[in-house]
Amino acid sequence: MNNKKIIFTKERNKDCENLMRPEVRRLLDLPLDEKIKKSQEIIREALKEYPKVGLGFSGGTDSLVLLHLILPLKSDIPTIFVNTQDEFPENFEFIEKIKKDWNLVDHHEVKAETKRFDEFKEKFGFKTSEFTTVCCNYHKIVPMMKAIGDFGFNAFLVGLRGVEHEERAKENFFSSRKNPDHIRVHPLLFWRKEDILEYVKKNNIECSPLYAQGYTSLGCVMCTEKNFDPDAHERAGRGVVREKIMQKLRELGYT
Ligand code: SF4
Repeated sequence: MNNKKIIFTKERNKDCENLMRPEVRRLLDLPLDEKIKKSQEIIREALKEYPKVGLGFSGGTDSLVLLHLILPLKSDIPTIFVNTQDEFPENFEFIEKIKKDWNLVDHHEVKAETKRFDEFKEKFGFKTSEFTTVCCNYHKIVPMMKAIGDFGFNAFLVGLRGVEHEERAKENFFSSRKNPDHIRVHPLLFWRKEDILEYVKKNNIECSPLYAQGYTSLGCVMCTEKNFDPDAHERAGRGVVREKIMQKLRELGYT
C-alpha cells in the first residue's frame, strides 16, 4: 500500500470493491432492506456469542447508523467515544445531543492522559507519516484499546465500510485483534455511502452539522479538510499520508 498512489476520485470505490472478500463483495448490491437484515444478523450474532460487547461511537454518520441499528436489539449497549482532544466543538455538542435524545445509558468518553500534538509536530514534522502514526496512536488508538481492556469487551463493534479504504476493504465481519484480545465486529462492511444516506433519510436521522459545512469524513480539526468536489472520494479530506499508513495504523488497533 505504501508505494501505491492514493487516488481520491470515486474510482477508489471500485478499487476497494475489487479487494473485498467474495462473501462481502456479493452483498454490495443488495437493496437497503436486505442490507439492514444482514447487518442486524451480524449484530445479533455478536450479542449472542460474546458476553461483553461495546460500540465505538465517534459522532460520524457511519457509527450513528450502526448505533441506530443496535439500540432496538440492545438498548443499554456501552458506547465509547474517543476524544482525541483536537475534536471539532460541533462534535461534542452533537454527541451530547444524541446521548440525550437516544437515551444512551452507558456512554463513556475516553482520552489520552495529556495532549502531545506540539511535541510530536516538533519531533517528527507536522503531517509526516511518523507524526501521523505516533500522534494517532497516542491520542486515538491507545485510549480506545485501553477502554476495550478496561471495560472487558470481548467484542467491539465499529461502523467501518470496505469501500472507504483499501485496507478496510480486506476486512471480515468478525476479525480478531490483540492487545487486548477481542473481536472487532464490522456490521456495515458491505454498505456504500449511498446506503448510509438512504438509511439516514428513511429514518429521518439528524446527522452531525459538520457534514453540512462540507466535511465528508470526520477526524481531528488539524487533520481534516472540507471536500466540496462531488466527484471526489468520501475520504478526500483526510489527507494522503493517513491513507498511505493505514495498514500500520490498523496493526496498532485503528478501526
Ligand atoms: S488525526 Fe491528526 S491530530 Fe488527530 S490524532 Fe491523528 S495525527 Fe493526531
